[in-house]
Amino acid sequence: MSLLTCEDFLKELNDYLDDATSPGLRQEIEAHLAQCPNCWVICDTTRKTLRIYKGTELYPLPPQVHQRLMEALRRKITERNGRH
Ligand SMILES: [Zn+2]
Repeated sequence: MSLLTCEDFLKELNDYLDDATSPGLRQEIEAHLAQCPNCWVICDTTRKTLRIYKGTELYPLPPQVHQRLMEALRRKITERNGRH
């Protein structure tokens, strides 16, 4: 079982995609991704979104856009976790 929760994962996602995490944390993130399809999809989607941004614009994702994206993702996770 991974030490990371989905919430932790979301916090680290941006750094992870930017290759800004430490190798240890990176391993934990990858362990979480391997066992959490939900976060895997989020990671995949975000990576693609960032790639599109970085491919068409020469500056990083604007903070407001990133903020909105993270809020949407967090809501999605909370919804799924809250239902039982
Ligand atoms: Zn997760």
